[in-house]
Amino acid sequence: MPNHRVAVIGAGAAGSVAAIFAAGAGAETLLLERTKDGGRKILISGGGRCNILPARVDETRFVTDSSPHTLRNILRSWPLAEQIEFFERELGLALVEEAGSAKLFPASNRARDVRDGLLRLAAKRGARFLPGTRVTGLVPHAGQWRIEREGAPPLDADAVIVATGGLSVPATGSDGAGLAILAALGHTIHPTYAALTPVIQEPPELAALAGVSLPVAITAKDGRRTAASAGGFLFTHRGYSGPSVLDVSHVVARSRAEGDGSARLQVRWTTLDESAWERALRPEGTRTVGGVLRRELPERLADALAERAGVPPGRALAQLRKSERLRLIECLVRGELPWSGDEGYRKAEVTGGGVSLAEIDPRTLESRRRPGLYVSGEALDAFGPIGGYNFLWAWATGRAAGLGAARGP
Ligand SMILES: Cc1cc2nc3c(=O)[nH]c(=O)nc-3n(C[C@H](O)[C@H](O)[C@H](O)COP(=O)(O)OP(=O)(O)OC[C@H]3O[C@@H](n4cnc5c(N)ncnc54)[C@H](O)[C@@H]3O)c2cc1C
Repeated sequence: MPNHRVAVIGAGAAGSVAAIFAAGAGAETLLLERTKDGGRKILISGGGRCNILPARVDETRFVTDSSPHTLRNILRSWPLAEQIEFFERELGLALVEEAGSAKLFPASNRARDVRDGLLRLAAKRGARFLPGTRVTGLVPHAGQWRIEREGAPPLDADAVIVATGGLSVPATGSDGAGLAILAALGHTIHPTYAALTPVIQEPPELAALAGVSLPVAITAKDGRRTAASAGGFLFTHRGYSGPSVLDVSHVVARSRAEGDGSARLQVRWTTLDESAWERALRPEGTRTVGGVLRRELPERLADALAERAGVPPGRALAQLRKSERLRLIECLVRGELPWSGDEGYRKAEVTGGGVSLAEIDPRTLESRRRPGLYVSGEALDAFGPIGGYNFLWAWATGRAAGLGAARGP
């Protein structure tokens, strides 16, 4: 019996893990990668430190247009505790939880250790790495797959795993070519959109606040969808960033893509609710509005919020009219954040949309449309929030596809 040959397309997060498990299960494994080294998103992840996994998982925070139930089944195929054990035992990377963020990082704080460790383990298990190889097409051919390459003769394989990622940060190698190949093979691709990307406002009304950062609670909402997040918020020269903004940015991106751009962003700038602000703003001595706000907020933001509410920061509380107080509280608890766009794929940490999960066997990640074809990682219609969730998805789907493809029909 000749060996069962598995070709993995894309040596990013999902593909490198797929190659490890396919080769580990005994398949003759090829790992094809268009860049000269692979895993470039891993290298730039987590600011070069690689937030490799979340310390705890809330599955409800994943976003998909497919069935959330199917998404959960796929995710649970490799539970977090087992993933942690894999990285610690098989890659020899101790993982450390960052205080206050529920994120796991390698103790070395070096993303390179993760990328190099994965490619080394794939090679150790027998996978052959073919960098500088751009796949241009997949053709079913006599019960096998013919893999067309740019500038080189085609290769044949019994099973193919597409792990080509999405469209975000194209400089890392993922440009959507894999999705086009899958679409040409008859797969349903849910419309793609930039996710986890900064939001912009032009002209930048609040540019004077650039550099101000603080924890907030933020909600993005339009007629079709809502997303909420709590965490870091950063004013930039062009708009807003920070984990909380990134987490809800897909609602903004989709609201624009779908035409009306009607999404609203509302921010609660502190932990105080309406009644707590009512108490804080009660007339007392000679205190001013600005003075009270600055106890809870960075000074520049405190003054800007008072001005947005039409209340001079120097106004004494004793002189504050009821209508002004109500406007101020509204601004502090449900402040409207003006926006005009987003940074798109250029800065998106991930691509939303992708191959419909309904066309994928959740146990093996084999296509229900094309036997012998498997899909993993960001190419699938799912993404998670900031915090290691997207690697959690990439590792889980890479492993399932690797094992599925190695097992074969
Ligand atoms: C700046 C940034 C920071 C991030 N930080 C984090 C983080 O800290 N934690 C986290 O969980 N997630 C993070 N992410 C998200 C995470 O990197 C992705 O979700 C993950 O890399 C997706 O894995 P993937 O294997 O599906 O795709 P990718 O990692 O993008 O890999 C796809 C691979 O396929 C190759 N390829 C594409 N087309 C072809 C072709 N036609 N032929 C051959 N090869 C091809 C590409 O060159 C690439 O190597 C970050 C993303 C960015 C952009």
